Amino acid sequence: MKLILLGAPGAGKGTVAKLLTKIDGSVQISTGDILRGAVTAGTDLGKEAKGYMDAGDLVPDELIMNIMGERLLEDDCKNGFLLDGFPRTIPQADALKELLVKLDITLDMAVNLDVPRDVIMDRLTTRRTCSNKDCQAIYNVKSMPSKVEGICDKCGSETIQRADETEEAIGNRLATYNEKTAPLVEYYLGEGLLLNVQATSSDVAVAEVTKQLNV
Ligand code: AMP
Repeated sequence: MKLILLGAPGAGKGTVAKLLTKIDGSVQISTGDILRGAVTAGTDLGKEAKGYMDAGDLVPDELIMNIMGERLLEDDCKNGFLLDGFPRTIPQADALKELLVKLDITLDMAVNLDVPRDVIMDRLTTRRTCSNKDCQAIYNVKSMPSKVEGICDKCGSETIQRADETEEAIGNRLATYNEKTAPLVEYYLGEGLLLNVQATSSDVAVAEVTKQLNV
Protein backbone atom coordinates (compact mmCIF):
# COMPACT_ATOMS: atom_id res chain seq x y z
CA MET A 1 0.00 0.00 0.00
CA LYS A 2 1.08 3.55 -0.68
CA LEU A 3 -0.42 5.83 1.91
CA ILE A 4 -0.08 9.22 3.50
CA LEU A 5 -1.00 9.33 7.18
CA LEU A 6 -2.35 12.70 8.22
CA GLY A 7 -3.28 13.79 11.72
CA ALA A 8 -2.16 16.02 14.57
CA PRO A 9 0.94 15.15 16.61
CA GLY A 10 -0.17 12.37 18.95
CA ALA A 11 -3.02 11.22 16.70
CA GLY A 12 -1.33 7.82 16.43
CA LYS A 13 0.21 8.00 12.95
CA GLY A 14 3.33 6.12 14.05
CA THR A 15 1.39 3.37 15.82
CA VAL A 16 -1.02 2.90 12.92
CA ALA A 17 1.87 2.91 10.42
CA LYS A 18 3.72 0.21 12.40
CA LEU A 19 0.60 -1.99 12.46
CA LEU A 20 0.04 -1.50 8.71
CA THR A 21 3.65 -2.48 7.84
CA LYS A 22 2.89 -5.96 9.23
CA ILE A 23 0.09 -6.46 6.71
CA ASP A 24 1.92 -6.28 3.39
CA GLY A 25 5.56 -5.41 3.98
CA SER A 26 5.17 -1.70 3.20
CA VAL A 27 7.78 0.45 4.96
CA GLN A 28 7.03 3.22 7.45
CA ILE A 29 8.76 6.46 6.52
CA SER A 30 8.69 8.91 9.41
CA THR A 31 10.35 12.25 8.72
CA GLY A 32 10.33 12.87 12.49
CA ASP A 33 12.33 9.64 13.09
CA ILE A 34 14.75 10.47 10.27
CA LEU A 35 15.32 13.96 11.72
CA ARG A 36 15.72 12.68 15.30
CA GLY A 37 18.27 10.14 13.98
CA ALA A 38 20.17 12.99 12.31
CA VAL A 39 20.11 15.06 15.53
CA THR A 40 21.46 12.14 17.56
CA ALA A 41 24.13 11.39 14.94
CA GLY A 42 25.13 15.07 14.94
CA THR A 43 25.02 15.39 11.14
CA ASP A 44 24.69 18.78 9.37
CA LEU A 45 21.01 18.02 8.80
CA GLY A 46 20.56 17.27 12.51
CA LYS A 47 22.34 20.47 13.55
CA GLU A 48 20.10 22.52 11.27
CA ALA A 49 16.89 20.77 12.32
CA LYS A 50 17.36 20.62 16.11
CA GLY A 51 16.34 24.17 17.01
CA TYR A 52 13.12 23.99 15.02
CA MET A 53 12.24 20.61 16.45
CA ASP A 54 12.87 21.46 20.11
CA ALA A 55 10.66 24.54 19.78
CA GLY A 56 7.87 22.53 18.12
CA ASP A 57 8.28 24.40 14.82
CA LEU A 58 8.44 22.83 11.37
CA VAL A 59 11.79 22.23 9.71
CA PRO A 60 12.04 24.15 6.37
CA ASP A 61 10.29 22.48 3.41
CA GLU A 62 13.47 22.36 1.36
CA LEU A 63 15.33 20.21 3.91
CA ILE A 64 12.39 17.83 4.12
CA MET A 65 12.05 17.52 0.34
CA ASN A 66 15.77 16.70 0.05
CA ILE A 67 15.30 13.89 2.57
CA MET A 68 12.17 12.52 0.90
CA GLY A 69 13.53 12.81 -2.64
CA GLU A 70 16.29 10.39 -1.63
CA ARG A 71 14.24 8.17 0.67
CA LEU A 72 11.56 7.33 -1.89
CA LEU A 73 14.24 6.10 -4.29
CA GLU A 74 15.39 3.41 -1.88
CA ASP A 75 14.62 -0.19 -2.82
CA ASP A 76 12.45 -0.99 0.18
CA CYS A 77 9.82 1.51 -1.02
CA LYS A 78 8.98 -0.75 -3.96
CA ASN A 79 6.71 -2.88 -1.74
CA GLY A 80 4.80 0.20 -0.65
CA PHE A 81 5.23 2.92 1.97
CA LEU A 82 3.39 4.68 4.76
CA LEU A 83 4.28 8.34 4.98
CA ASP A 84 4.13 9.26 8.66
CA GLY A 85 4.46 12.98 9.37
CA PHE A 86 4.98 14.00 5.74
CA PRO A 87 3.73 16.08 3.99
CA ARG A 88 3.17 18.72 6.68
CA THR A 89 2.54 21.83 4.52
CA ILE A 90 0.81 22.60 1.22
CA PRO A 91 4.18 23.29 -0.51
CA GLN A 92 5.40 19.84 0.67
CA ALA A 93 2.20 18.25 -0.71
CA ASP A 94 2.68 20.01 -4.05
CA ALA A 95 6.33 18.93 -4.19
CA LEU A 96 5.38 15.35 -3.28
CA LYS A 97 2.80 15.28 -6.06
CA GLU A 98 5.45 16.33 -8.57
CA LEU A 99 7.97 13.82 -7.20
CA LEU A 100 5.49 10.95 -7.42
CA VAL A 101 4.66 11.79 -11.05
CA LYS A 102 8.40 11.75 -11.78
CA LEU A 103 8.82 8.38 -10.07
CA ASP A 104 5.64 7.01 -11.69
CA ILE A 105 4.10 6.18 -8.30
CA THR A 106 0.36 6.38 -7.59
CA LEU A 107 -0.86 6.91 -4.04
CA ASP A 108 -3.74 4.78 -2.75
CA MET A 109 -5.07 7.17 -0.12
CA ALA A 110 -4.37 9.93 2.36
CA VAL A 111 -5.74 8.73 5.70
CA ASN A 112 -6.64 11.42 8.19
CA LEU A 113 -6.59 10.19 11.81
CA ASP A 114 -9.12 12.39 13.52
CA VAL A 115 -8.65 12.51 17.32
CA PRO A 116 -10.13 15.03 19.82
CA ARG A 117 -7.65 17.63 21.17
CA ASP A 118 -8.01 16.60 24.84
CA VAL A 119 -7.12 13.00 23.96
CA ILE A 120 -4.07 14.25 22.05
CA MET A 121 -2.84 16.49 24.89
CA ASP A 122 -3.17 13.64 27.35
CA ARG A 123 -1.35 11.19 25.05
CA LEU A 124 1.56 13.52 24.35
CA THR A 125 2.28 14.71 27.86
CA THR A 126 2.26 11.14 29.21
CA ARG A 127 4.39 9.68 26.41
CA ARG A 128 7.91 8.44 27.13
CA THR A 129 10.43 7.33 24.51
CA CYS A 130 13.44 5.04 24.86
CA SER A 131 16.59 7.17 24.70
CA ASN A 132 18.49 4.50 22.73
CA LYS A 133 18.41 5.73 19.13
CA ASP A 134 18.36 2.17 17.78
CA CYS A 135 15.34 1.27 19.91
CA GLN A 136 13.08 4.31 20.37
CA ALA A 137 10.31 2.17 21.92
CA ILE A 138 7.34 4.25 23.02
CA TYR A 139 5.59 3.98 26.39
CA ASN A 140 2.80 5.85 28.12
CA VAL A 141 2.99 6.44 31.87
CA LYS A 142 -0.78 5.91 32.15
CA SER A 143 -1.82 3.39 29.52
CA MET A 144 1.38 1.50 28.67
CA PRO A 145 4.07 2.00 31.34
CA SER A 146 7.40 0.20 31.15
CA LYS A 147 7.75 -2.61 33.74
CA VAL A 148 10.34 -0.62 35.68
CA GLU A 149 9.61 3.11 35.75
CA GLY A 150 12.04 5.04 33.56
CA ILE A 151 13.67 1.95 32.03
CA CYS A 152 12.93 0.53 28.57
CA ASP A 153 11.56 -3.06 28.64
CA LYS A 154 13.19 -3.87 25.31
CA CYS A 155 16.77 -2.65 25.73
CA GLY A 156 17.20 -1.47 29.33
CA SER A 157 18.05 2.13 28.39
CA GLU A 158 16.51 5.13 30.12
CA THR A 159 13.09 6.28 28.90
CA ILE A 160 12.72 10.04 28.50
CA GLN A 161 10.20 12.75 27.77
CA ARG A 162 11.14 14.22 24.39
CA ALA A 163 12.14 17.91 24.42
CA ASP A 164 9.21 18.59 22.09
CA GLU A 165 6.75 16.88 24.44
CA THR A 166 6.73 19.49 27.17
CA GLU A 167 3.40 21.38 27.60
CA GLU A 168 4.82 24.49 25.92
CA ALA A 169 6.29 22.73 22.90
CA ILE A 170 3.14 20.63 22.49
CA GLY A 171 0.98 23.78 22.50
CA ASN A 172 3.20 25.17 19.75
CA ARG A 173 3.17 21.92 17.76
CA LEU A 174 -0.64 21.83 17.84
CA ALA A 175 -0.87 25.49 16.78
CA THR A 176 1.59 24.80 13.94
CA TYR A 177 -0.46 21.77 12.97
CA ASN A 178 -3.70 23.79 12.83
CA GLU A 179 -2.13 26.54 10.78
CA LYS A 180 0.09 24.61 8.36
CA THR A 181 -0.92 20.94 8.26
CA ALA A 182 -4.69 20.79 8.86
CA PRO A 183 -5.32 22.41 5.41
CA LEU A 184 -3.94 19.20 3.87
CA VAL A 185 -7.20 17.44 4.75
CA GLU A 186 -9.05 19.70 2.27
CA TYR A 187 -6.17 19.35 -0.19
CA TYR A 188 -6.42 15.56 -0.34
CA LEU A 189 -10.21 15.72 -0.34
CA GLY A 190 -9.85 17.80 -3.51
CA GLU A 191 -7.45 15.19 -4.93
CA GLY A 192 -10.09 12.50 -4.33
CA LEU A 193 -7.68 10.62 -2.02
CA LEU A 194 -9.00 11.36 1.47
CA LEU A 195 -10.15 8.74 3.97
CA ASN A 196 -11.22 10.33 7.26
CA VAL A 197 -11.06 7.98 10.25
CA GLN A 198 -12.33 8.66 13.78
CA ALA A 199 -9.23 7.21 15.35
CA THR A 200 -9.50 7.01 19.12
CA SER A 201 -8.12 3.46 18.80
CA SER A 202 -5.32 2.45 16.42
CA ASP A 203 -6.93 -0.97 15.79
CA VAL A 204 -10.12 0.70 14.56
CA ALA A 205 -8.07 2.94 12.25
CA VAL A 206 -6.16 -0.05 10.83
CA ALA A 207 -9.41 -1.97 10.27
CA GLU A 208 -10.91 0.97 8.34
CA VAL A 209 -7.85 1.32 6.13
CA THR A 210 -7.62 -2.38 5.30
CA LYS A 211 -11.36 -2.49 4.57
CA GLN A 212 -11.08 0.42 2.15
CA LEU A 213 -8.04 -1.06 0.42
CA ASN A 214 -9.41 -4.60 0.41
CA VAL A 215 -6.25 -6.08 1.95
P1 AMP B 1 7.02 14.10 14.45
O1 AMP B 1 7.71 13.00 15.18
O2 AMP B 1 6.44 13.65 13.12
O3 AMP B 1 5.99 14.80 15.30
O4 AMP B 1 8.13 15.19 14.09
C1 AMP B 1 8.90 15.81 15.08
C2 AMP B 1 9.39 17.16 14.59
O5 AMP B 1 10.18 16.99 13.41
C3 AMP B 1 8.29 18.12 14.16
O6 AMP B 1 7.76 18.84 15.26
C4 AMP B 1 9.04 19.02 13.18
O7 AMP B 1 9.90 19.92 13.87
C5 AMP B 1 9.94 18.02 12.48
N1 AMP B 1 9.28 17.44 11.27
C6 AMP B 1 8.93 16.14 11.08
N2 AMP B 1 8.37 15.97 9.87
C7 AMP B 1 8.37 17.19 9.29
C8 AMP B 1 7.92 17.67 8.02
N3 AMP B 1 7.34 16.86 7.12
N4 AMP B 1 8.07 18.99 7.77
C9 AMP B 1 8.65 19.83 8.65
N5 AMP B 1 9.09 19.44 9.86
C10 AMP B 1 8.96 18.12 10.18
